[in-house]
Amino acid sequence: MEREFSAGGVLVRRFHGRWHLAAIRPRGRGKTTWALPKGWIEADEAPAATAIREVYEETGLHARLDRKLADIKYAYTRSDGTRVFKIVSFYLLRYRSGRIGEIPAGMELEVAEARWLPLEEAPRQLAYGGEQQVARQALEALAGG
Ligand code: ATP
Repeated sequence: MEREFSAGGVLVRRFHGRWHLAAIRPRGRGKTTWALPKGWIEADEAPAATAIREVYEETGLHARLDRKLADIKYAYTRSDGTRVFKIVSFYLLRYRSGRIGEIPAGMELEVAEARWLPLEEAPRQLAYGGEQQVARQALEALAGG
């Protein structure tokens, strides 16, 4: 089985008295599939740097690293039938600057929409179980300071 390694971010910001996270709708996966921004780790790139870069490319937001949250694991089948085992490292990131959805040219091919979701609702709104768990861990980390 092939392996893939990606890294992604739970980018958080507090407004209207609540924590929010930056979520995306990946293009081609349906109107209700909300996911966390992530992507392939380049050669010689630190996974935390990948997370910050991918979050910018997919949401338009600049962030700084807070801490690592967790690795999630899943398997999927490519269109040619190849099975892939994937590990994605997720990091808690704090908002620095930028407007959500103002993504670099070309990225709209991958991202249909980027939106703030209230962090408390994210475990219900995110499509994948592993990412729901990561959102819960972000809530706990922020509650603990
Ligand atoms: P990357 O964003 O890492 O560059 P990608 O967009 O090429 O990757 P994935 O997002 O891993 O690929 O999607 C590949 C397949 O796995 C899709 O069918 C998708 O629905 C599914 N998938 C994505 N994330 C998860 C997850 N957390 N749990 C289970 N299946 C997932």
